[in-house]
Amino acid sequence: MNSASAISGLTVGIDIGGTKVLGGVVDTDGKILATYRKDTPKNGGQDLINVIIEVVKELQTKHQIAGIGVSTAGIVSADRKTVIAAGNIANWNDVALADALVKEFGLPAVVENDANAAIWAEFKFGNAKGLNPVMFFIIGTGMGGGLIIDGKLYRGAHGIGAEFGHMMVKLDGEKCGCGAIGCIETYASGSALMRYAHEEIASNLEKGKVLLNFGDGTLNGFTGQVLTKAAQAGDQLALSAFAKQSDWVGSAIASYTLLLDPEAIIIGGGVIDAGDIFLKPAIAAAEKYMPFAGKHPLPKIIAAKFGNDAGLVGAADLVRA
Ligand SMILES: [Zn+2]
Repeated sequence: MNSASAISGLTVGIDIGGTKVLGGVVDTDGKILATYRKDTPKNGGQDLINVIIEVVKELQTKHQIAGIGVSTAGIVSADRKTVIAAGNIANWNDVALADALVKEFGLPAVVENDANAAIWAEFKFGNAKGLNPVMFFIIGTGMGGGLIIDGKLYRGAHGIGAEFGHMMVKLDGEKCGCGAIGCIETYASGSALMRYAHEEIASNLEKGKVLLNFGDGTLNGFTGQVLTKAAQAGDQLALSAFAKQSDWVGSAIASYTLLLDPEAIIIGGGVIDAGDIFLKPAIAAAEKYMPFAGKHPLPKIIAAKFGNDAGLVGAADLVRA
């Protein structure tokens, strides 16, 4: 039942993150017909498998479904059956998730890395349609990556492929969540953006106060949304934090352009909420850092269509692929 045979009809997509399990019934056009959400259990592991089963069962009460696709943080085996490791979910290592779901429901099931699932949604139903090759940066707390070549999701030899966030850019740099040092994720992610903002506040206390007042006035209440709101209002420190992040993203665009010559790079994740405040300087930085500048066309840089539901929609379709 876990073979790659084409299936039709409605499928369920499940997106697993550090805080929530979001399930949805999705049709063949990528439209979400129903959703159901539960918190990610603290203990992860079997508790999390039980929550996934509960979510699928709830969605099954109203819809007949033909398969289950799961999008999860972390790395997944090349056969799309097993979660190998995930940093921010407890006991989520070497979990034979697809087999557990096949056994429970008697339906085809696949597991995919969340960034891979998200780019698949963009490729099938969103802003990456028809582009080849097309790369994806998903810039939220971390920096995920994905790559589609000739209409196929690139996974590499062992399923860990196209993790664009872990290119080393500074050998004596910041420690990354992956265990390595100086990955681009530690400079270009949403976490890095917040770090830059905190540095700006610490070195300009007076202007820092103005920035914090876009939120509740405290560092605790200072979120990514507050920072974005401040930047949109023209706050100098906020714009400076975005400029640093955009610069690193631009350098990554430049490096990967020569590595893969993509037709387009789609950028998704929370950072896209900042719109041109993020995208324009990122594109300018890509041009500034581009190797062989002016001698070759640049990839299109495009904001993703899907937001938080990308992983769910992509996973639901991947069980058909
Ligand atoms: Zn890393």
